[in-house]
Amino acid sequence: MTTSDLITRAPNTWCPGCGNFAIEHALKDVVARMIDEGTPADEFVLVTGIGCHGKMADYLGINSFYAIHGRTLPVATGIAVANPDLKVICCAGDGDCYGEGLEHLLFAAKRNTDITLIVHDNRVYGLTTGQYTPTSPLGFPGRSTPAGSPEYPLNPLSLMVGAGATFVARGYSRRLPQLRGLIEDALSHRGFSFLEVLQVCASFFNQTVYYDEHACDLDPGTFPIADTDRALRIARKWDYSRDARIPLGALYRARLPTYQEHLAANQAGVHNPVGAIRDFLDGRT
Ligand code: SF4
Repeated sequence: MTTSDLITRAPNTWCPGCGNFAIEHALKDVVARMIDEGTPADEFVLVTGIGCHGKMADYLGINSFYAIHGRTLPVATGIAVANPDLKVICCAGDGDCYGEGLEHLLFAAKRNTDITLIVHDNRVYGLTTGQYTPTSPLGFPGRSTPAGSPEYPLNPLSLMVGAGATFVARGYSRRLPQLRGLIEDALSHRGFSFLEVLQVCASFFNQTVYYDEHACDLDPGTFPIADTDRALRIARKWDYSRDARIPLGALYRARLPTYQEHLAANQAGVHNPVGAIRDFLDGRT
């Protein structure tokens, strides 16, 4: 299996220089390698939302489902609960997932649903030509905020560590080898894995120079950590001020029973929420 085997014939309509190309290539590389290593191709399911990122469903030749705006995670949850053997990957945009779909994001993290979420965070509504999103910076002069956005941006990593996601990472569309590794880590994690990707929007919010100058890597010898307080402190290091550094890499990882494992334990008649479910899971592995 090569990555070209996973490319569909759909004409690509992303703008030249769009960061979505890098995310698509990284995901293709990882899926192709996993198929080579024995994961059946039909066990991958990709769910996308609405936005430029959503075209991944057209371009990547695996099972896919186009969800409505903000609803990638409930669709993915249904698929993952109905068939826990599937590798369910959600691609969502920042407007899609931090705006319309925010409550679904919080609940997927809170439940520790075994899904991988890749957020194409270009910090702008690109498909609709440049309105501000929940991660646009204060003062962003978008089409709907000509005088500058009056809102502070969300900090997605801090939100996800706080909400209970058990794998939290950040990549950048111009750091392809690192991005590939982070997608591999996210897909191999059992539980809710959240990968935020700083994705360059070449047409409406090109932050290439800023990201290149401010991105820094978390030490892979130390990270990811399982200490939520420390992870929160590091997540907040990028407070969106122009001179703050932007940590990239896998920040947080913990192993907890997943939503699917809790449901399986319940179905087996195990109702004690902590000890008995752990015993049940230990007995199964
Ligand atoms: Fe990419 Fe931005 Fe063009 Fe959309 S509008 S395809 S995000 S460069």
